[in-house]
Amino acid sequence: MCHSLEEVKRLFERFDGSVALVINHSGGKDSTRMLGFVRERLPEATTLAVMADTGFEHQRPISATDFARDRCAEFGVPLTVVRNSRRNYLEMVEQRGMFPSAQYRQCTSDLKRGPIEKYIRTLPYRLIFNCMGIRSEESPPRAKLHPLSLNSSLTTQTRIVYNWFPIFEESLADVLTWHWDHCIPLHPVYVPKFHKDGTTGGYLRRLSCRLCIFSTDSDLLAIRQHDPEAFLSVSALEQKIGFTMRSTGSLIQIVDEANSVIEAQSTQVCLPF
Ligand code: SF4
Repeated sequence: MCHSLEEVKRLFERFDGSVALVINHSGGKDSTRMLGFVRERLPEATTLAVMADTGFEHQRPISATDFARDRCAEFGVPLTVVRNSRRNYLEMVEQRGMFPSAQYRQCTSDLKRGPIEKYIRTLPYRLIFNCMGIRSEESPPRAKLHPLSLNSSLTTQTRIVYNWFPIFEESLADVLTWHWDHCIPLHPVYVPKFHKDGTTGGYLRRLSCRLCIFSTDSDLLAIRQHDPEAFLSVSALEQKIGFTMRSTGSLIQIVDEANSVIEAQSTQVCLPF
């Protein structure tokens, strides 16, 4: 059960009409599940979707943008794609001479949050719910967040904006089961076990930038194999700016070390006693 939903409904009644839900859509599983959730629970609400294109989104076999647009269309919701007009992800890294980090996520603030907030400021509603597909299960810091909170930087004398996480209490299994039960497709880049038949699919557990600062070692191995263009772009950028995405070494070093570990483990398994 979503406890914040009751509070959202109360706020809807107070503002009587001039209210909109803005779905932050990435093309990913949580965004689509969130869209389905609000259309089911608040079917009368004005619902809009917005996607921030960082310029480093997945393009094959279908772009994340087109995939998001198709999912939104299935729920009768228009999608607006926004971008930072001055630079994309790779340009931002090159201009700064360094990669973003977990502490300084300039990619999120410049390429996602900023363009989305600019879009929200153009909307003519007195009450807006800025909806994000964040789930508490994803990490301990996320679990500490509150699913409904005032967005003070977007709130003015004539407009109140709340950040709302409609599927905050849902698990990964809930999200996948909903997709399977409703025959809602997942982007093909997701690993096969996320897909209903388990036989098709790609190589990642998250739909993010093609190579994200939060990519794990195994993600990096998979990206080098399945999306070598993205891997080489970031790797070449590391060499060009003399700064690595990870403090522990270059992407190539990390992937080579991970491969060595895998090879050593497979040798141990094969060794006769
Ligand atoms: S997906 Fe990763 S690299 Fe891209 S903007 Fe978000 S945190 Fe930054």
